[in-house]
Amino acid sequence: MTIHRPLWHRTVAKKRLPGLPCPQCTPGKLKLVKDGLSVREPKYSSEWRDKHWDDWEPDHNVERWSAEMRCDEPGCGEIVHMIGDVEVVQAELDLPDGKTVWGLEDVLRIQAVFPAPALFRLSENVPRPVAKELGVAFRMYWTDTAACVARLRTAVERLLDDQGVPTEKTTKKGKILRMDLKERIDAFASGAVHADQLQGLRVIGNLGTHGGDDVTSEDLFDAVDVLEFVVTGIYDTKVINAKAAKLKGKTKGA
Ligand SMILES: [Zn+2]
Repeated sequence: MTIHRPLWHRTVAKKRLPGLPCPQCTPGKLKLVKDGLSVREPKYSSEWRDKHWDDWEPDHNVERWSAEMRCDEPGCGEIVHMIGDVEVVQAELDLPDGKTVWGLEDVLRIQAVFPAPALFRLSENVPRPVAKELGVAFRMYWTDTAACVARLRTAVERLLDDQGVPTEKTTKKGKILRMDLKERIDAFASGAVHADQLQGLRVIGNLGTHGGDDVTSEDLFDAVDVLEFVVTGIYDTKVINAKAAKLKGKTKGA
């Protein structure tokens, strides 16, 4: 399953907080609690507007917001908080007569979500060191793209550790050198059972090599899609195959 990208926008209209997946249970979705959104303007912002009315522009306003979300599965009820600031953007606004007009709209920019929903679901078969790095990457997604990418790369390093891929290589002259992530991915992908899927890891190997500032959201989502495909392929194929074999056995016996 690929990530549903519109759900993960970091800026949202005030009335449209995203129905993100619950971080605790599988079917649950996060819904805004009644009166759970609070937007406040600090005193220095309102005072500046009062004093400099002639120079004031809508985007000079400073506002902070928080939202309390709750999982819609009655048996779960996980509580998630979102926080952020307000940005003024050009948008198509709905008029009472049903027409639309271009104007300025306040949107909520999400700066942090806790506990953070997973960008993709991890099964229990994923080893702890890999799951731990992915968990931090999912948290960082809202705060800093470069930090998120760095953690995705570390998650791939842990996955390669788990698969027994070496971290060092010996040169022709017998010198021992550390392998970088790209070399480790190449070593793993060549001749492996999941070779085709693993080629995709190269996307992540190449991502953020200049510190991550050049990574767009689309690059990041592409990398997340690849990683989900690879992680599922490596850790869940056996379980899925076993289930399929069991079902097949039952059909034969029936
Ligand atoms: Zn839940």
